[in-house]
Amino acid sequence: MAMFTRRKFVKAAGACTALGALASINACTANTPKRASGGGKGRVIVIGGGYGGAIAAKYIKLADADIDVTLIEKNKNYVSCPLSNEVLGGDRTIDSLTFGYDTLSDKRGINVVQDEIVAIDPDKHTVKGKSGKQYDYDKLVVSPGVDFRYEKIDGYDAQVAEKIPHAWKAGPQTVTLRKQLEAMKDGGVCYIAAPPNPFRCPPGPYERAAQIAHYFKMHKPKSKVIILDAKDKFSKQGLFMQGYKKFYGDMVEWVSGAGGGIIEAIDPNSRTLVGEVEEYKGDVVNLIPAQKAGKIAQVAGLADDSGWCPVNQKTFESKLHKDIHVIGDACIAGKMPKSGYAANSQGKVCAAAIVAALNGQEPGEPSYVNTCYSIISPEWGISVAAVYQLVDGKIVGVKGAGGLSPMNASAATRAIEAKFARSWFKNIAADMFT
Ligand SMILES: Cc1cc2nc3c(=O)[nH]c(=O)nc-3n(C[C@H](O)[C@H](O)[C@H](O)COP(=O)(O)OP(=O)(O)OC[C@H]3O[C@@H](n4cnc5c(N)ncnc54)[C@H](O)[C@@H]3O)c2cc1C
Repeated sequence: MAMFTRRKFVKAAGACTALGALASINACTANTPKRASGGGKGRVIVIGGGYGGAIAAKYIKLADADIDVTLIEKNKNYVSCPLSNEVLGGDRTIDSLTFGYDTLSDKRGINVVQDEIVAIDPDKHTVKGKSGKQYDYDKLVVSPGVDFRYEKIDGYDAQVAEKIPHAWKAGPQTVTLRKQLEAMKDGGVCYIAAPPNPFRCPPGPYERAAQIAHYFKMHKPKSKVIILDAKDKFSKQGLFMQGYKKFYGDMVEWVSGAGGGIIEAIDPNSRTLVGEVEEYKGDVVNLIPAQKAGKIAQVAGLADDSGWCPVNQKTFESKLHKDIHVIGDACIAGKMPKSGYAANSQGKVCAAAIVAALNGQEPGEPSYVNTCYSIISPEWGISVAAVYQLVDGKIVGVKGAGGLSPMNASAATRAIEAKFARSWFKNIAADMFT
Protein backbone atom coordinates (compact mmCIF):
# COMPACT_ATOMS: atom_id res chain seq x y z
CA MET A 1 0.00 0.00 0.00
CA ALA A 2 1.33 3.43 -0.92
CA MET A 3 2.51 5.67 1.90
CA PHE A 4 -0.29 7.94 3.06
CA THR A 5 0.32 11.64 2.78
CA ARG A 6 -1.54 14.10 4.93
CA ARG A 7 -3.56 15.09 1.87
CA LYS A 8 -4.58 11.46 1.33
CA PHE A 9 -5.64 11.21 4.96
CA VAL A 10 -8.01 14.09 4.46
CA LYS A 11 -9.40 12.26 1.45
CA ALA A 12 -9.62 8.89 3.18
CA ALA A 13 -11.35 10.31 6.18
CA GLY A 14 -13.23 12.46 3.71
CA ALA A 15 -16.34 11.64 5.59
CA CYS A 16 -15.09 14.23 7.97
CA THR A 17 -15.66 17.35 5.94
CA ALA A 18 -14.02 19.87 8.20
CA LEU A 19 -10.95 17.70 8.13
CA GLY A 20 -9.97 19.95 5.27
CA ALA A 21 -8.81 22.09 8.12
CA LEU A 22 -6.18 19.47 8.88
CA ALA A 23 -4.27 20.43 5.78
CA SER A 24 -3.56 23.78 7.30
CA ILE A 25 -3.08 22.57 10.83
CA ASN A 26 0.69 22.54 10.67
CA ALA A 27 0.72 26.19 9.74
CA CYS A 28 -1.41 26.98 12.72
CA THR A 29 0.66 27.12 15.86
CA ALA A 30 -0.29 30.53 17.20
CA ASN A 31 -3.23 29.32 19.27
CA THR A 32 -1.92 25.83 19.93
CA PRO A 33 -2.50 24.98 23.58
CA LYS A 34 0.67 24.58 25.59
CA ARG A 35 1.25 20.96 26.65
CA ALA A 36 2.69 19.99 29.98
CA SER A 37 3.93 16.58 28.93
CA GLY A 38 5.92 15.24 26.00
CA GLY A 39 7.48 17.11 23.14
CA GLY A 40 5.80 18.43 20.03
CA LYS A 41 2.15 19.29 20.13
CA GLY A 42 1.14 16.83 22.82
CA ARG A 43 1.00 13.23 23.83
CA VAL A 44 -1.84 10.92 22.87
CA ILE A 45 -2.27 7.46 24.32
CA VAL A 46 -4.56 4.96 22.65
CA ILE A 47 -5.69 1.93 24.65
CA GLY A 48 -6.55 -1.07 22.46
CA GLY A 49 -5.12 -1.86 19.02
CA GLY A 50 -8.28 -3.19 17.36
CA TYR A 51 -10.67 -1.85 14.74
CA GLY A 52 -11.09 1.49 16.53
CA GLY A 53 -7.79 2.03 18.34
CA ALA A 54 -5.31 1.07 15.61
CA ILE A 55 -7.09 3.45 13.23
CA ALA A 56 -7.23 6.36 15.69
CA ALA A 57 -3.50 5.99 16.44
CA LYS A 58 -2.52 5.78 12.78
CA TYR A 59 -4.66 8.68 11.58
CA ILE A 60 -3.61 11.04 14.38
CA LYS A 61 0.01 10.43 13.44
CA LEU A 62 -0.72 10.77 9.71
CA ALA A 63 -2.50 14.06 10.26
CA ASP A 64 0.14 15.57 12.49
CA ALA A 65 3.56 13.97 12.87
CA ASP A 66 4.35 16.37 15.73
CA ILE A 67 1.90 14.62 18.00
CA ASP A 68 3.46 11.86 20.08
CA VAL A 69 1.23 8.77 19.73
CA THR A 70 1.50 5.64 21.90
CA LEU A 71 -0.69 2.63 21.22
CA ILE A 72 -0.99 0.30 24.21
CA GLU A 73 -2.32 -3.15 23.42
CA LYS A 74 -2.36 -6.11 25.78
CA ASN A 75 -1.79 -8.77 23.12
CA LYS A 76 1.20 -9.20 20.84
CA ASN A 77 -1.04 -9.89 17.84
CA TYR A 78 -4.56 -8.90 16.90
CA VAL A 79 -7.05 -11.51 15.68
CA SER A 80 -9.91 -10.12 13.62
CA CYS A 81 -13.47 -11.12 14.48
CA PRO A 82 -14.71 -10.14 11.00
CA LEU A 83 -14.50 -13.29 8.85
CA SER A 84 -13.80 -15.48 11.90
CA ASN A 85 -17.07 -17.29 11.21
CA GLU A 86 -15.37 -18.64 8.08
CA VAL A 87 -12.88 -20.40 10.36
CA LEU A 88 -15.85 -22.26 11.87
CA GLY A 89 -17.14 -23.03 8.37
CA GLY A 90 -13.72 -24.49 7.48
CA ASP A 91 -12.91 -22.14 4.59
CA ARG A 92 -10.32 -20.01 6.42
CA THR A 93 -7.50 -20.34 8.94
CA ILE A 94 -7.16 -18.26 12.07
CA ASP A 95 -3.69 -17.24 10.83
CA SER A 96 -5.26 -15.40 7.90
CA LEU A 97 -6.98 -13.15 10.47
CA THR A 98 -3.92 -12.51 12.66
CA PHE A 99 -1.90 -9.28 12.46
CA GLY A 100 1.13 -7.76 14.19
CA TYR A 101 1.89 -4.13 14.98
CA ASP A 102 5.38 -3.84 13.43
CA THR A 103 4.33 -1.65 10.52
CA LEU A 104 2.52 0.78 12.80
CA SER A 105 5.69 1.23 14.84
CA ASP A 106 8.36 0.95 12.13
CA LYS A 107 6.64 2.80 9.30
CA ARG A 108 4.05 4.98 10.99
CA GLY A 109 6.11 6.28 13.91
CA ILE A 110 3.68 5.11 16.58
CA ASN A 111 5.13 3.90 19.90
CA VAL A 112 3.54 0.48 20.22
CA VAL A 113 3.66 -0.90 23.76
CA GLN A 114 2.49 -4.32 24.85
CA ASP A 115 0.84 -3.85 28.23
CA GLU A 116 -2.61 -4.14 29.75
CA ILE A 117 -3.94 -0.92 31.18
CA VAL A 118 -5.50 -1.56 34.58
CA ALA A 119 -6.23 1.99 35.80
CA ILE A 120 -6.83 5.48 34.43
CA ASP A 121 -6.43 8.63 36.51
CA PRO A 122 -8.42 11.30 34.66
CA ASP A 123 -7.25 14.07 37.03
CA LYS A 124 -3.54 13.35 36.74
CA HIS A 125 -3.87 12.37 33.06
CA THR A 126 -2.07 9.08 33.58
CA VAL A 127 -2.77 5.44 32.88
CA LYS A 128 -1.20 2.48 34.67
CA GLY A 129 -0.22 -0.83 33.11
CA LYS A 130 -0.24 -4.33 34.56
CA SER A 131 3.54 -4.12 34.08
CA GLY A 132 3.58 -1.46 36.80
CA LYS A 133 4.52 1.25 34.29
CA GLN A 134 2.73 4.59 34.23
CA TYR A 135 2.09 6.58 31.05
CA ASP A 136 1.16 10.30 30.78
CA TYR A 137 -1.27 11.70 28.26
CA ASP A 138 -2.76 14.96 27.11
CA LYS A 139 -5.52 13.12 25.24
CA LEU A 140 -6.52 9.52 25.80
CA VAL A 141 -8.41 7.29 23.36
CA VAL A 142 -10.04 4.17 24.81
CA SER A 143 -11.11 1.43 22.38
CA PRO A 144 -11.21 -1.77 24.46
CA GLY A 145 -14.08 -3.54 22.71
CA VAL A 146 -16.56 -5.51 24.79
CA ASP A 147 -16.67 -7.45 28.01
CA PHE A 148 -19.23 -10.15 28.87
CA ARG A 149 -22.09 -10.13 31.38
CA TYR A 150 -21.49 -13.69 32.50
CA GLU A 151 -23.62 -13.07 35.57
CA LYS A 152 -26.75 -13.07 33.38
CA ILE A 153 -26.37 -16.82 32.77
CA ASP A 154 -26.20 -19.04 35.88
CA GLY A 155 -23.28 -21.43 35.67
CA TYR A 156 -21.37 -19.44 33.03
CA ASP A 157 -18.13 -17.53 33.61
CA ALA A 158 -14.82 -16.84 31.90
CA GLN A 159 -13.43 -20.22 32.95
CA VAL A 160 -16.44 -22.21 31.74
CA ALA A 161 -16.20 -20.25 28.48
CA GLU A 162 -12.92 -22.05 27.76
CA LYS A 163 -14.97 -25.26 27.48
CA ILE A 164 -18.30 -23.83 26.25
CA PRO A 165 -16.84 -21.07 24.07
CA HIS A 166 -18.57 -17.85 23.17
CA ALA A 167 -15.88 -17.25 20.52
CA TRP A 168 -17.06 -13.62 20.49
CA LYS A 169 -13.47 -12.42 20.61
CA ALA A 170 -11.66 -14.17 17.81
CA GLY A 171 -8.67 -16.28 18.84
CA PRO A 172 -8.22 -19.47 20.87
CA GLN A 173 -11.95 -19.88 21.52
CA THR A 174 -12.66 -19.75 17.78
CA VAL A 175 -10.23 -22.63 17.33
CA THR A 176 -11.76 -24.56 20.26
CA LEU A 177 -15.24 -24.20 18.79
CA ARG A 178 -14.03 -25.35 15.38
CA LYS A 179 -12.39 -28.42 16.96
CA GLN A 180 -15.61 -29.25 18.82
CA LEU A 181 -17.54 -29.07 15.55
CA GLU A 182 -14.97 -31.34 13.90
CA ALA A 183 -15.21 -33.85 16.76
CA MET A 184 -19.02 -33.87 16.78
CA LYS A 185 -20.78 -36.96 15.44
CA ASP A 186 -22.96 -36.70 12.35
CA GLY A 187 -26.55 -36.27 13.48
CA GLY A 188 -25.49 -34.00 16.36
CA VAL A 189 -26.98 -30.64 17.30
CA CYS A 190 -25.05 -27.39 17.68
CA TYR A 191 -26.85 -24.71 19.69
CA ILE A 192 -25.94 -21.06 19.28
CA ALA A 193 -27.36 -18.87 22.06
CA ALA A 194 -27.57 -15.35 20.61
CA PRO A 195 -27.33 -12.37 23.01
CA PRO A 196 -29.80 -9.55 23.72
CA ASN A 197 -29.27 -6.08 22.23
CA PRO A 198 -27.02 -4.16 22.14
CA PHE A 199 -24.08 -6.39 21.29
CA ARG A 200 -21.00 -6.60 19.06
CA CYS A 201 -21.88 -7.36 15.43
CA PRO A 202 -25.68 -7.67 15.18
CA PRO A 203 -25.60 -10.05 12.14
CA GLY A 204 -22.71 -12.13 13.55
CA PRO A 205 -24.59 -15.00 15.28
CA TYR A 206 -26.73 -15.55 12.18
CA GLU A 207 -23.75 -15.61 9.83
CA ARG A 208 -22.16 -18.07 12.26
CA ALA A 209 -25.20 -20.38 12.02
CA ALA A 210 -24.88 -20.34 8.22
CA GLN A 211 -21.14 -21.05 8.30
CA ILE A 212 -21.57 -23.98 10.70
CA ALA A 213 -24.40 -25.34 8.53
CA HIS A 214 -22.08 -24.98 5.52
CA TYR A 215 -19.56 -27.24 7.28
CA PHE A 216 -22.26 -29.73 8.34
CA LYS A 217 -23.72 -29.88 4.85
CA MET A 218 -20.38 -31.01 3.47
CA HIS A 219 -19.24 -33.29 6.29
CA LYS A 220 -22.11 -34.10 8.68
CA PRO A 221 -25.32 -33.79 6.70
CA LYS A 222 -27.60 -35.28 9.37
CA SER A 223 -26.64 -32.56 11.86
CA LYS A 224 -28.48 -29.39 12.85
CA VAL A 225 -27.76 -25.83 13.96
CA ILE A 226 -30.35 -24.30 16.27
CA ILE A 227 -30.21 -20.61 17.18
CA LEU A 228 -31.73 -19.85 20.58
CA ASP A 229 -32.31 -16.14 20.52
CA ALA A 230 -32.76 -13.68 23.35
CA LYS A 231 -34.58 -11.47 20.80
CA ASP A 232 -37.71 -11.67 18.65
CA LYS A 233 -36.08 -10.26 15.53
CA PHE A 234 -32.57 -9.73 14.20
CA SER A 235 -30.47 -7.92 11.63
CA LYS A 236 -31.04 -8.83 7.94
CA GLN A 237 -33.53 -11.46 9.15
CA GLY A 238 -35.43 -11.91 5.86
CA LEU A 239 -32.19 -12.31 3.90
CA PHE A 240 -30.76 -14.79 6.40
CA MET A 241 -33.93 -16.90 6.52
CA GLN A 242 -34.06 -16.98 2.72
CA GLY A 243 -30.38 -18.02 2.56
CA TYR A 244 -30.77 -20.72 5.25
CA LYS A 245 -33.68 -22.25 3.37
CA LYS A 246 -31.95 -22.14 0.01
CA PHE A 247 -28.68 -23.73 1.11
CA TYR A 248 -29.44 -25.67 4.25
CA GLY A 249 -33.15 -26.58 4.15
CA ASP A 250 -34.28 -27.44 7.67
CA MET A 251 -30.74 -27.86 8.94
CA VAL A 252 -30.91 -24.37 10.51
CA GLU A 253 -33.65 -23.48 12.97
CA TRP A 254 -34.27 -20.21 14.76
CA VAL A 255 -36.11 -20.00 18.09
CA SER A 256 -37.19 -16.47 19.03
CA GLY A 257 -37.05 -15.08 22.57
CA ALA A 258 -40.83 -15.27 22.86
CA GLY A 259 -40.70 -18.81 21.47
CA GLY A 260 -38.42 -20.04 24.27
CA GLY A 261 -35.00 -18.87 23.06
CA ILE A 262 -34.04 -16.89 26.18
CA ILE A 263 -31.33 -18.76 28.09
CA GLU A 264 -30.99 -18.32 31.85
CA ALA A 265 -28.50 -20.99 32.90
CA ILE A 266 -26.11 -23.65 31.68
CA ASP A 267 -24.94 -26.99 32.98
CA PRO A 268 -21.53 -27.12 31.31
CA ASN A 269 -20.91 -30.78 32.13
CA SER A 270 -23.93 -32.04 30.22
CA ARG A 271 -23.83 -29.09 27.78
CA THR A 272 -27.44 -28.26 28.67
CA LEU A 273 -28.82 -24.78 28.20
CA VAL A 274 -31.68 -23.91 30.50
CA GLY A 275 -34.29 -21.69 28.93
CA GLU A 276 -37.31 -19.98 30.46
CA VAL A 277 -39.50 -22.75 29.08
CA GLU A 278 -37.35 -25.67 27.98
CA GLU A 279 -33.92 -27.24 28.37
CA TYR A 280 -31.68 -27.85 25.37
CA LYS A 281 -28.92 -30.44 25.46
CA GLY A 282 -26.39 -29.86 22.71
CA ASP A 283 -23.51 -31.83 21.24
CA VAL A 284 -21.78 -28.50 20.71
CA VAL A 285 -22.87 -25.33 22.52
CA ASN A 286 -21.85 -21.81 21.53
CA LEU A 287 -23.14 -19.51 24.26
CA ILE A 288 -22.76 -15.80 23.45
CA PRO A 289 -23.61 -13.82 26.58
CA ALA A 290 -24.95 -10.28 26.94
CA GLN A 291 -22.26 -7.61 26.66
CA LYS A 292 -20.99 -4.30 28.01
CA ALA A 293 -18.04 -1.98 27.37
CA GLY A 294 -14.57 -3.51 27.87
CA LYS A 295 -13.33 -3.87 31.46
CA ILE A 296 -11.03 -0.85 31.54
CA ALA A 297 -13.96 1.40 30.60
CA GLN A 298 -15.90 0.04 33.59
CA VAL A 299 -12.95 0.30 35.97
CA ALA A 300 -12.19 3.87 34.89
CA GLY A 301 -15.76 5.08 35.36
CA LEU A 302 -16.29 5.76 31.67
CA ALA A 303 -19.47 3.64 31.44
CA ASP A 304 -22.92 4.62 32.71
CA ASP A 305 -25.65 2.36 34.14
CA SER A 306 -26.26 0.87 30.69
CA GLY A 307 -22.74 -0.62 30.78
CA TRP A 308 -21.70 1.46 27.73
CA CYS A 309 -19.83 4.76 27.51
CA PRO A 310 -21.69 7.99 26.83
CA VAL A 311 -19.72 10.32 24.53
CA ASN A 312 -20.07 13.57 22.69
CA GLN A 313 -20.98 12.01 19.35
CA LYS A 314 -19.17 14.72 17.41
CA THR A 315 -15.74 14.13 18.96
CA PHE A 316 -16.18 10.89 20.94
CA GLU A 317 -14.97 12.70 24.04
CA SER A 318 -16.38 11.02 27.14
CA LYS A 319 -19.31 12.80 28.77
CA LEU A 320 -17.96 11.61 32.11
CA HIS A 321 -14.23 12.46 31.88
CA LYS A 322 -12.56 15.28 30.00
CA ASP A 323 -9.73 14.59 27.54
CA ILE A 324 -10.71 10.91 27.30
CA HIS A 325 -12.31 9.72 24.07
CA VAL A 326 -14.10 6.37 23.79
CA ILE A 327 -14.63 4.75 20.40
CA GLY A 328 -15.70 1.43 18.92
CA ASP A 329 -17.97 -1.14 20.54
CA ALA A 330 -17.54 0.40 23.99
CA CYS A 331 -19.19 3.76 23.19
CA ILE A 332 -22.78 4.83 22.68
CA ALA A 333 -22.74 6.08 19.10
CA GLY A 334 -26.37 6.90 18.31
CA LYS A 335 -27.74 4.73 15.53
CA MET A 336 -24.40 3.17 14.58
CA PRO A 337 -24.14 -0.57 15.22
CA LYS A 338 -21.24 -2.12 17.12
CA SER A 339 -19.15 -3.18 14.14
CA GLY A 340 -15.54 -3.07 12.99
CA TYR A 341 -16.38 -0.71 10.17
CA ALA A 342 -18.24 1.61 12.57
CA ALA A 343 -15.21 1.53 14.90
CA ASN A 344 -12.96 2.42 11.94
CA SER A 345 -15.17 5.36 11.00
CA GLN A 346 -15.33 6.57 14.61
CA GLY A 347 -11.54 6.22 14.91
CA LYS A 348 -11.10 8.66 12.02
CA VAL A 349 -13.63 11.18 13.33
CA CYS A 350 -12.05 10.98 16.79
CA ALA A 351 -8.53 11.36 15.32
CA ALA A 352 -9.59 14.52 13.49
CA ALA A 353 -11.19 15.97 16.64
CA ILE A 354 -8.05 15.31 18.72
CA VAL A 355 -5.71 16.74 16.08
CA ALA A 356 -7.90 19.83 15.87
CA ALA A 357 -7.96 20.23 19.66
CA LEU A 358 -4.18 19.83 20.01
CA ASN A 359 -3.79 22.52 17.36
CA GLY A 360 -6.18 24.90 19.10
CA GLN A 361 -8.93 24.44 16.54
CA GLU A 362 -12.59 23.50 16.65
CA PRO A 363 -13.55 20.00 15.49
CA GLY A 364 -15.03 19.70 12.02
CA GLU A 365 -18.51 18.56 11.06
CA PRO A 366 -18.25 14.77 10.84
CA SER A 367 -20.04 12.12 8.90
CA TYR A 368 -19.74 8.39 9.46
CA VAL A 369 -20.20 5.18 7.52
CA ASN A 370 -20.84 1.48 8.06
CA THR A 371 -21.34 -1.67 5.99
CA CYS A 372 -21.78 -5.15 7.41
CA TYR A 373 -21.38 -8.09 5.04
CA SER A 374 -22.42 -11.64 5.93
CA ILE A 375 -21.37 -14.75 4.04
CA ILE A 376 -24.17 -17.34 4.06
CA SER A 377 -22.48 -19.74 1.66
CA PRO A 378 -19.08 -19.29 -0.06
CA GLU A 379 -20.68 -17.64 -3.11
CA TRP A 380 -23.64 -16.04 -1.35
CA GLY A 381 -23.15 -12.71 0.44
CA ILE A 382 -25.61 -10.16 1.82
CA SER A 383 -25.05 -6.73 3.31
CA VAL A 384 -26.48 -3.75 5.13
CA ALA A 385 -24.94 -0.30 4.67
CA ALA A 386 -25.56 3.19 6.02
CA VAL A 387 -24.12 6.69 6.05
CA TYR A 388 -24.64 8.73 9.21
CA GLN A 389 -24.65 12.38 10.17
CA LEU A 390 -24.89 14.39 13.35
CA VAL A 391 -28.32 15.88 14.06
CA ASP A 392 -28.90 17.69 17.37
CA GLY A 393 -25.79 16.05 18.79
CA LYS A 394 -26.88 12.51 17.87
CA ILE A 395 -25.61 10.20 15.15
CA VAL A 396 -28.51 9.31 12.84
CA GLY A 397 -28.75 7.63 9.45
CA VAL A 398 -28.85 9.77 6.31
CA LYS A 399 -32.17 9.01 4.59
CA GLY A 400 -31.78 7.29 1.22
CA ALA A 401 -28.10 6.44 1.75
CA GLY A 402 -27.20 2.76 2.08
CA GLY A 403 -29.80 0.05 2.67
CA LEU A 404 -30.13 -3.71 2.59
CA SER A 405 -29.16 -6.11 -0.19
CA PRO A 406 -32.34 -6.76 -2.18
CA MET A 407 -34.41 -9.87 -1.42
CA ASN A 408 -34.53 -12.32 -4.33
CA ALA A 409 -31.33 -10.98 -5.91
CA SER A 410 -29.67 -13.06 -8.62
CA ALA A 411 -26.95 -15.59 -7.83
CA ALA A 412 -24.49 -13.30 -9.63
CA THR A 413 -25.34 -10.41 -7.30
CA ARG A 414 -24.95 -12.59 -4.22
CA ALA A 415 -21.61 -13.94 -5.52
CA ILE A 416 -20.35 -10.38 -5.99
CA GLU A 417 -21.42 -9.49 -2.45
CA ALA A 418 -19.46 -12.49 -1.09
CA LYS A 419 -16.46 -11.23 -3.06
CA PHE A 420 -17.00 -7.69 -1.73
CA ALA A 421 -17.08 -9.09 1.83
CA ARG A 422 -13.61 -10.59 1.45
CA SER A 423 -12.16 -7.56 -0.34
CA TRP A 424 -13.69 -5.27 2.30
CA PHE A 425 -11.74 -7.27 4.88
CA LYS A 426 -8.46 -7.01 2.94
CA ASN A 427 -8.90 -3.24 2.61
CA ILE A 428 -9.86 -2.54 6.20
CA ALA A 429 -7.05 -4.77 7.51
CA ALA A 430 -4.57 -2.86 5.32
CA ASP A 431 -6.03 0.40 6.63
CA MET A 432 -5.36 -0.76 10.20
CA PHE A 433 -2.03 -2.52 10.00
CA THR A 434 0.00 -1.07 7.08
C1 LIG B 1 -17.99 -13.37 14.89
C2 LIG B 1 -17.87 -11.90 14.61
C3 LIG B 1 -17.94 -11.44 13.32
C4 LIG B 1 -17.84 -10.07 13.05
N1 LIG B 1 -17.91 -9.64 11.76
C5 LIG B 1 -17.85 -8.32 11.49
C6 LIG B 1 -17.92 -7.87 10.14
O1 LIG B 1 -18.04 -8.67 9.20
N2 LIG B 1 -17.83 -6.54 9.92
C7 LIG B 1 -17.68 -5.64 10.93
O2 LIG B 1 -17.60 -4.44 10.64
N3 LIG B 1 -17.62 -6.04 12.22
C8 LIG B 1 -17.70 -7.34 12.53
N4 LIG B 1 -17.60 -7.77 13.83
C9 LIG B 1 -17.54 -6.76 14.92
C10 LIG B 1 -16.12 -6.25 15.18
O3 LIG B 1 -15.25 -7.32 15.48
C11 LIG B 1 -16.11 -5.27 16.36
O4 LIG B 1 -17.18 -4.38 16.23
C12 LIG B 1 -14.80 -4.50 16.39
O5 LIG B 1 -13.75 -5.40 16.66
C13 LIG B 1 -14.85 -3.38 17.42
O6 LIG B 1 -13.62 -2.70 17.46
P1 LIG B 1 -13.07 -2.15 18.87
O7 LIG B 1 -11.85 -1.37 18.57
O8 LIG B 1 -14.16 -1.54 19.63
O9 LIG B 1 -12.69 -3.49 19.67
P2 LIG B 1 -11.63 -4.61 19.29
O10 LIG B 1 -11.44 -4.71 17.83
O11 LIG B 1 -12.04 -5.83 20.04
O12 LIG B 1 -10.27 -4.08 19.89
C14 LIG B 1 -10.10 -3.95 21.27
C15 LIG B 1 -8.61 -4.14 21.57
O13 LIG B 1 -8.34 -3.60 22.84
C16 LIG B 1 -7.46 -4.46 23.54
N5 LIG B 1 -7.66 -4.17 24.96
C17 LIG B 1 -8.81 -4.26 25.67
N6 LIG B 1 -8.61 -3.83 26.93
C18 LIG B 1 -7.32 -3.44 27.02
C19 LIG B 1 -6.53 -2.91 28.08
N7 LIG B 1 -7.05 -2.71 29.30
N8 LIG B 1 -5.24 -2.63 27.83
C20 LIG B 1 -4.69 -2.85 26.59
N9 LIG B 1 -5.40 -3.37 25.55
C21 LIG B 1 -6.70 -3.65 25.76
C22 LIG B 1 -7.90 -5.86 23.10
O14 LIG B 1 -6.88 -6.82 23.31
C23 LIG B 1 -8.22 -5.61 21.62
O15 LIG B 1 -7.09 -5.82 20.80
C24 LIG B 1 -17.68 -9.14 14.12
C25 LIG B 1 -17.60 -9.61 15.44
C26 LIG B 1 -17.71 -10.98 15.69
C27 LIG B 1 -17.62 -11.46 17.10
